[in-house]
Amino acid sequence: MMNNKCAFITGASGGIGKAIALRLAADGFDIAACYYSDDLGATELEKELKNLGTNYRIYKADVSDHNRMKEIFEDAIEFFGGISVLVNNAGMAQQKLFTDISEDEFDRICAVNFKSVYNCCKFAVPDMVSRKSGKIINISSMWGISGASCETVYSATKAAVIGFTKALGKELAPSNIQVNCIAPGAIDTKMNNSLSDDDKAAFADEIPAGRFGTPEEIAGIVSFLAGKDSSYVTSQTLVADGGFI
Ligand code: NAD
Repeated sequence: MMNNKCAFITGASGGIGKAIALRLAADGFDIAACYYSDDLGATELEKELKNLGTNYRIYKADVSDHNRMKEIFEDAIEFFGGISVLVNNAGMAQQKLFTDISEDEFDRICAVNFKSVYNCCKFAVPDMVSRKSGKIINISSMWGISGASCETVYSATKAAVIGFTKALGKELAPSNIQVNCIAPGAIDTKMNNSLSDDDKAAFADEIPAGRFGTPEEIAGIVSFLAGKDSSYVTSQTLVADGGFI
């Protein structure tokens, strides 16, 4: 049944996004899940949502494609009767010397990590404003705060997401819409698969908590920011990095 309590999550086929989709489903949200290319991951997600008895729709799309995201949001708003929570989680990383990053790579990372946030907010916000209620949660990164060597463009896009969050939160506060950011540290997902086991162990040694975080730990923060207890929290960035930065 449509209960007008739908969470829309991008990059939901694996890693942090899947954990967020399952946590918000367990919290009682209908789920609109968007993924890019991992059909197997999307099938797994679908199986788990079915087991939870969740009302869901899964969309395959490139979040940087403005027109495609417009279609998807129109469909989701009609099907679910509105979107209560938007989680902009989809993203891509790249480790390269700055001088080796091509113009095409620059454009692609900016589009996937930042234009995507603009796209999804653009199509979710009018519905939220008309209902005077909503939550937008953007997944940034600790590198957007501290900067990471050999991740110049990635760090810049994640910093852009933080600035966007601060500004949009202020603009939408009068409409009772809260906009917040989470800046995860090193989380154990395939985004870090380019690191060898030795590199991962050395990285973990540098983290005061002594380990990588889990996708579920980020999903727990999303659950708080998506719920009623965060009604006076907006424009904030919550860092979850085990004390790293
Ligand atoms: P992941 O690679 O497992 O997931 C990334 C997700 O984004 C995937 O579901 C992928 O399909 C989706 N995606 C990528 N390009 C897309 C596109 N063009 N259109 C639609 N979807 C697209 O990695 P993850 O660790 O789960 O990353 C999730 C988010 O968390 C990302 O924004 C990432 O930058 C951020 N983050 C991750 C870490 C970490 O250490 N894993 C740390 C800080 C921030």
